[in-house]
Amino acid sequence: MAVGKDTIMLGAPGAGKGTQAKILSQELGILHVSTGDILRANVAGGTELGAKAKAYMDRGDLVPDDLIVDMVRARLQEDDCAHGVLFDGFPRTLPQAEALTQVLQETGRGEARVVAIEVAEEELVRRLSGRRVCRGCGHISHVDSLPPGQVTCPDCGGELYQRSDDSPEPIRQRLQVHAKQTEPLLEYYGSRGGLLRVDGTGPPESVAERALTALRS
Ligand code: AMP
Repeated sequence: MAVGKDTIMLGAPGAGKGTQAKILSQELGILHVSTGDILRANVAGGTELGAKAKAYMDRGDLVPDDLIVDMVRARLQEDDCAHGVLFDGFPRTLPQAEALTQVLQETGRGEARVVAIEVAEEELVRRLSGRRVCRGCGHISHVDSLPPGQVTCPDCGGELYQRSDDSPEPIRQRLQVHAKQTEPLLEYYGSRGGLLRVDGTGPPESVAERALTALRS
């Protein structure tokens, strides 16, 4: 299968997938699709999918593959996905990766490219436990880089909140789940030949630069 425009962002929780996906999707002119964001919107909107997914998300466990694959399949059928998608947080298991390969094949979109962002575990825990998200624009910041006591977004002034799964027990669980269920995807995509490994440390702009260089070479 020829290589298409769809791009997958792999990386542990806290590796910076969301931040990088925002930058790279703009640079590459493709649509940012985050399965975590879609799920959180479903939970907030009280949909049937949200009700099914909530308990898994609160614990830091993965939502079952069939729900995720149906959700992504439906999303890919929308017009705004026609020019390429940057997947953030999907696939996260081998069955999801295999299902995506099949969907891309069936729809003639071509093989996806894969960027794996690599960050040491100690740094992941530091990033996740201090992470704050803006309710207005989705901007992600870290308490260490905000003035003490600031509860509003430095970008848009919206309210900053801490994700319910960014607390110690769910963080531990998410990192374990990632090691067990998502890391095998490195081998899956490595053997298919589309894997680009990128150092995820340092400022987001530097990481993005490295990722773009890898994608363009
Ligand atoms: P994220 O925003 O990507 O960290 O995702 C937050 C939570 O949503 C995860 O901890 C999972 O519970 C759920 N989730 C997001 N994407 C997936 C996926 N591809 N497969 C299973 N669960 C997912």
